[in-house]
Amino acid sequence: MKPIPVSAFVEQNVRNVCQKPLTTLGFLTFSFSVMGTCLKFRNVPLRCCSIKRTYSFTSAEALPSHAKVVICGGGVQGAALGYYLAQHGWGKDTIILDQGKIGKARAHHMSGLIGIFKPTPAETRITEESIKLYDELARMGFDTGFKQCGSLLLARTRDRLTHFRRMKSHSVCRKIECYLLTNEEIAKRYPYINTQDLQGGLWIPIDAVADPHTICESLATLAAAQGVRMFEHIQVNRVLTSQNKVAAVETDRGTIKCDFFVNCAGFWARSLGKKTQPLVKVPVQAVEHYYLHTKPIKDVDENMPVVRDLDGHVYFRVKDGCILAGGFEPLAKPVFEDGALPLSVEESQLEVDWDHFAPMLEQMVHRVPLMRGAVLDKLCNGPESFSPDCKWVLGETSEVDNYFVATGMKSLGIASAGGVAKHLSEWIVTGKPPYPLNELNVQRFVPLHNNRQFLLERMREVPGVHYQLPYPFSEFRTGRRLRVLSVFPTP
Ligand SMILES: Cc1cc2nc3c(=O)[nH]c(=O)nc-3n(C[C@H](O)[C@H](O)[C@H](O)COP(=O)(O)OP(=O)(O)OC[C@H]3O[C@@H](n4cnc5c(N)ncnc54)[C@H](O)[C@@H]3O)c2cc1C
Repeated sequence: MKPIPVSAFVEQNVRNVCQKPLTTLGFLTFSFSVMGTCLKFRNVPLRCCSIKRTYSFTSAEALPSHAKVVICGGGVQGAALGYYLAQHGWGKDTIILDQGKIGKARAHHMSGLIGIFKPTPAETRITEESIKLYDELARMGFDTGFKQCGSLLLARTRDRLTHFRRMKSHSVCRKIECYLLTNEEIAKRYPYINTQDLQGGLWIPIDAVADPHTICESLATLAAAQGVRMFEHIQVNRVLTSQNKVAAVETDRGTIKCDFFVNCAGFWARSLGKKTQPLVKVPVQAVEHYYLHTKPIKDVDENMPVVRDLDGHVYFRVKDGCILAGGFEPLAKPVFEDGALPLSVEESQLEVDWDHFAPMLEQMVHRVPLMRGAVLDKLCNGPESFSPDCKWVLGETSEVDNYFVATGMKSLGIASAGGVAKHLSEWIVTGKPPYPLNELNVQRFVPLHNNRQFLLERMREVPGVHYQLPYPFSEFRTGRRLRVLSVFPTP
């Protein structure tokens, strides 16, 4: 089915959205009804619309008894999927349930970086789709902080520079514009970067930043405008099956019969999968992820690109005159080790461990000495879900037909959401993915990958993979010897 162009939005507390408004290039036509009167606005220049928060949620209403698709999770992934299903004409048949508030989960816990180069072509393509979507939202007038400021990757070693040269050659077939820079070029363009120990860099102009929270709200708004219903403060207890096929979803407010279920429950996805009979394995585990905010720094360059010092495991961006910096440490800290997961956003806030963060902070001030004199505003620590091979977890599960998942976003949830939702919606509607997504398919895992002990052990190593040099044939060192031949020597 041809996607329906995006169109209307609903003002806060306004119900009964008219279903047919359409965008025209550069102008927006929208309509909504207040107390039974349908109001229409035509040809409003897009930039004139200040689109703020806006979808009407319906937690006070009774749950429907049936829906074609039930999405569990109203984070950025669930909202994006709702939006794309609506584009396929399934808006009125889709509902999103969240145990907290839609769009409020962890969208605040993000640095908002969107880097297009990913380890595999499928992931790169997905990120490309996300950038296209966020660009479209910006052109429609949604204030999402989307800015294509580009990114600069730094190499401290010759091996890293060789890898950048490989990326440069891959960029030709992947059609990604990028340029190798010498140290002198980096120093000239970005004088605040310490280039003393560098070998060079790679400049990628298409890379972007955005505000994850408003992206999530914008997508929820557009989804609601096309009929998707959203219910807050409703917990999905389990998925009921019949002959190994999704039959219904049991919540704390009643049961909803449905044809498809999508588990977009972030780091809760594994525990939700375990509650289904037969058990659905979703091997993800939450890990601590840190970033800091400085207070505004005088004369900071607002157009500074995202800087990724991969060998120092840290990244930087500028936001509202402040520096925001985070990292992917080589030895990470899994959280919720006893399996007890928080039930609210507040409970998901993690205590900061300065001893753990200190090595990253050291690398930050080394690379951007300007930070030495900056005043710290706050250090954030949020849980983020990773899979055992540091790849997203998507698709239909092998255990239950019509049970889909989209999780394990490995701190790239905003970069992935648009593209993942586009492909997953097509997969749900047509029965197959738009192109082979084998390396991301949830079916790549076997039951032992879902073992908590294995996940905890493996997760210490996984986040570091992001910035690790991908040498050929490299293997994980943790979580080994799970299956060995009987003749395997024991220590
Ligand atoms: C510090 C930090 C920095 C980050 N920086 C970036 C970045 O720069 N770029 C980037 O792309 N990503 C970044 N991320 C990652 C990003 O925040 C996540 O990947 C993204 O928010 C995941 O979105 P989601 O929708 O998959 O999951 P979530 O946002 O976790 O949403 C899952 C939802 O499911 C609901 N839920 C769970 N179980 C149930 C249930 N049983 N019943 C009902 N509802 C349920 C939850 O309430 C929640 O609202 C960062 C993360 C952290 C922690």
